[in-house]
Amino acid sequence: GVPEVPVRPIAERRESRRIQVGPVPVGGGAPVSVQSMTTTRTSDIGATLQQIAELTASGCQIVRVACPTQDDADALPVIAKKSRIPVIADIHFQPKYVFAAIEAGCAAVRVNPGNIKKFDDQVKEIAKAAKDHGTPIRIGVNAGSLDRRLLQKYGKATPEALAESALWEASLFEEHDFRDIKISVKHNDPVVMVEAYRQLAAQCDYPLHLGVTEAGPAFQGTIKSAVAFGALLSQGIGDTIRVSLSAPPVEEIKVGIQILESLNLRRRGLEIVSCPSCGRAQVDVYKLAEEVTAGLTGMDVPLRVAVMGCVVNGPGEAREADLGVASGNGKGQIFVKGEVIKTVPESKIVETLIEEAMKIAEQMEKDGASG
Ligand code: SF4
Repeated sequence: GVPEVPVRPIAERRESRRIQVGPVPVGGGAPVSVQSMTTTRTSDIGATLQQIAELTASGCQIVRVACPTQDDADALPVIAKKSRIPVIADIHFQPKYVFAAIEAGCAAVRVNPGNIKKFDDQVKEIAKAAKDHGTPIRIGVNAGSLDRRLLQKYGKATPEALAESALWEASLFEEHDFRDIKISVKHNDPVVMVEAYRQLAAQCDYPLHLGVTEAGPAFQGTIKSAVAFGALLSQGIGDTIRVSLSAPPVEEIKVGIQILESLNLRRRGLEIVSCPSCGRAQVDVYKLAEEVTAGLTGMDVPLRVAVMGCVVNGPGEAREADLGVASGNGKGQIFVKGEVIKTVPESKIVETLIEEAMKIAEQMEKDGASG
């Protein structure tokens, strides 16, 4: 019931064909979706469904599960049925699991042509099975497992090699009149990755799944992904994203959502505009910002809350926000929509901000419900 805030995205989206990953549209102007991958053994159905439920709660829209063994393939029908978000089976090496995943009712199947031996010979049957079940295929090329022919031709996983590999595999499917495809060309170097996607975007109209592979631990991986996705999405390239972190998958979703919100590709939720603090600060800004964030987390409203350490930039920023505080002399001036509504002692700043945020949120809900 919260009103949509009109946002101007960072760029016009590249025109791509649309595919359906279960109920989630990908490409063709659909909102950029956020995905992740489970870390449980897929054959452990309970643990996998539990993790999928956690991912769903954190905003994950599409989830991928690995399928390296027959036990994993056997688990797919139950997982695909019980998951509340579409499940993509991730297949390397074994074409027989591709068929199993399609049969199991997975919303899509990811194949890595570089890793599936004799893949080319089986494309015809895969295309037929996928078409019969309406299952899209992601052609997921990875720098670490590039087709040997292309490795020989280019010497290493260059952007050209990655794009050529993906387009070659797509062409094999096209020969069988199958175009229900999305493509990824992942590399751990954001510069190579960005260039590979740019080349791919110029040469086809398939929707693209963005990812920096093996991006690293949370801090490094977050930055690599944000920089690479930002570079591409600011040119309209990218239809679904996966942030890869050596961290729990829920963290990947948080980062992915934040990237999309930062680029106005998704309505912003709660946004804390806090100053970095400096020698002028008259309050502990870090602590205040953390307490305000903790107090407001979970409110699903597009609220900008400014937390400023002094009155130099404070009132200006606080005025730009829906709600804000500028501190000075042991007190906090509380702003709502640009007006100082009260001045409270420092000890009351957090609770006053939370109180006022609730009031604004309620009003927004009401306006949304009536409008
Ligand atoms: Fe420094 Fe004040 Fe700016 Fe915060 S708002 S960075 S305390 S000048």
